[in-house]
Amino acid sequence: MAKGTSLDVGHMRAHILDDGTFVTDASNLFGGSRKASIKGAMHPILIETGDDLVLIDAGFGPELPEMLEGRYELRREKNLLDHMDEAGFAAEDVTRVILSHLDPDHVGWALNPPSFRNATVYVQEAALEEAREMPEKDGRRAAVPAVERGVEEGWCELLNGNDEVLPGIRVEVRPGHSAGHQIVWVEDNGDAVLYTGDLAPAKIWLDPNLIAGVDTDPEAARKNRIEVLSEAEERDAPVILYHEPQDSIIKVRSEGDGFKAVPRE
Ligand SMILES: [Zn+2]
Repeated sequence: MAKGTSLDVGHMRAHILDDGTFVTDASNLFGGSRKASIKGAMHPILIETGDDLVLIDAGFGPELPEMLEGRYELRREKNLLDHMDEAGFAAEDVTRVILSHLDPDHVGWALNPPSFRNATVYVQEAALEEAREMPEKDGRRAAVPAVERGVEEGWCELLNGNDEVLPGIRVEVRPGHSAGHQIVWVEDNGDAVLYTGDLAPAKIWLDPNLIAGVDTDPEAARKNRIEVLSEAEERDAPVILYHEPQDSIIKVRSEGDGFKAVPRE
């Protein structure tokens, strides 16, 4: 794999994958009538633990969901499964999938359609409950039928709070962007890497005061962003930014009342 797209965490190895780039108007993320286009990558993470292959978040899926057509554009030459293949893995090798929350740019290949037939998919129950209450055409609401079917069929497991999915793969509930939003700490042999999901999905979110129109609870998002990024700084842990187009693995340092990205080495 190209340099910079994977890193070792103790005995585990994390591959930073790619499901293309979306382009949307800033008003879709921040509200208001600001006219500027914003670009975001999607970088699902694949972790080799030795016995298991764990995917964290799952991109948009085979195509842009219909409800986002016109508002979002999806650009990609290769999708998540192509990139997995290049890294030497097939969809059926994946044994666990952790979904940070139920937005369509995070659940695609896991739910629509379920593409990892040997995997257990982990969703926080609070995220499902919130999605059920969303308006009819909301992206989160669209994930509900697949999650409910998964629970019924046994391939989806609902979590209730912080949990260790596997030794060294620890989810922590940090709501704000959505209810039940979970981040992931990957820890082994004194090494640690943090996956922030949409709590801090790109470098611009290292400013804890950035208010995104897409956050369910902006105050909770702000508080959790500060706590989580402070812990990453204290532990000197690399942070993987899901939507950051370039340099998606960084370290963070305090600056003013926020944080800045520094190179990981
Ligand atoms: Zn997102």
